[in-house]
This record gives sequence, structure tokens and C-alpha cells, in this order.
Amino acid sequence: MPHPKVNPYLSLMEIPAGHLNIAGYVDESRVNGPGSRAVIWVQGCLRECPGCFNPDSWSFEINQLVTINALVERILDNPRNEGVTFSGGEPFWQAPALAKLAAKVKAYGLNVMSFTGFTLEELQDSYAPAGAKDLLEQLDLLIDGPYVQSQAINSPDVPVSSRNQRVHVFNPAFHDRITWASNQTEIHIFKDGSRLVTGYRGQLLASD
Ligand code: SF4
Repeated sequence: MPHPKVNPYLSLMEIPAGHLNIAGYVDESRVNGPGSRAVIWVQGCLRECPGCFNPDSWSFEINQLVTINALVERILDNPRNEGVTFSGGEPFWQAPALAKLAAKVKAYGLNVMSFTGFTLEELQDSYAPAGAKDLLEQLDLLIDGPYVQSQAINSPDVPVSSRNQRVHVFNPAFHDRITWASNQTEIHIFKDGSRLVTGYRGQLLASD
């Protein structure tokens, strides 16, 4: 459902300091970046791309409030997480908190990647969301650009879901690790019986 246009900064002021407003979280994903990774789906996106895979993540209203430290603990608690991926929603609207989280997990040797609907050039511009530069400095990999339905791609050889999107490798150690593919899907089944489907086109589908 489309939501009325909001000023994201007004909504973001409702998030207490040291917290993130998230849409979802999973450990040990193998379809959201290189290797086995924690994934944080951030709540809030203004773009309303036709064909968006996660329209429930558009609203900037409070969904799940989690402290940065609790997320860091959760990520580090699972030794199979070798990195963390930020997806959305739009991660860069919560860039200051994500930059802090990224710095904390990197101190333990994990790598960090983010998706964004902005282009890298927009994130480097003076009009970029607050904290964008700090988050960019923490990233090993960035997948940029919005999802464009007319350029959709679903292929074992391509890591992005529409052809306009680009993979930026900021850490040279990852040049040969662009191994995930846009046609992969993964189902996580939790102890309480709930399920989460992720991977293909970056979607997050939770069900009980
Ligand atoms: S940028 Fe991503 S989360 Fe936002 S509307 Fe587009 S596809 Fe959906």
C-alpha cells in the first residue's frame, strides 16, 4: 500500500538514540552477499519502486526497535556469520546507527555490505542523507540504484536484481567474492514454526 509522503527526518526523530528501526533480521543467509551473513532489513523507504519486493518496509513508522548493541551481540553470537548485509527499506536513512553497528562488528573481523536505492554519486553528494559518508567508509561492498522493473534480471550469473544496479567493491579482498546470484531463494524455518523467505530480488517474506 502506498503511504503518504513523509519527511523521513521527522519520522527518524522518533527512533531513540542508539537504536535502529528494522523490518527484519536473519542469521546465516547465503543469498544476500558473499559467504554466510547476518541480514538486517531496515524499516523505511520513500521510493515506492513498482515491483518492490518489500513494500511492508516502506513505512517510516516504528516497527521493531532494536539497540545497536543488541544487534551486534546477535550477529557475533552466531560464529557462522562472517559478515552483515544491510537491506531494506533504505539503509541510508538510518546511516548513523548502521555506521556505528558496522564499526563494532568490523572490530571483530566481520565484513559489511549494503544495498541502497541511492546511487553512489548521490550518497557522496552534499544532499545525501545524514551520516551517508560515515556508513560508506565502513562498507566493503555496496550495491547501488533502485529496483527498475523494466530492467529486472533473474540470472545465476548476475548479483543484482535490475540491470541499472551496480556492485561497488571498496575492499579489494572481495573482487573475487561476488558469488551470490539474483535467481537464488532461501527459506529459513525457525524454532517457533515461523518462516522467512529471502534471496530472489532481495525479498523478505515472513510468515507464521
Ligand atoms: S528502493 Fe528498494 S525497498 Fe525502496 S521501494 Fe525501491 S525496491 Fe523497495
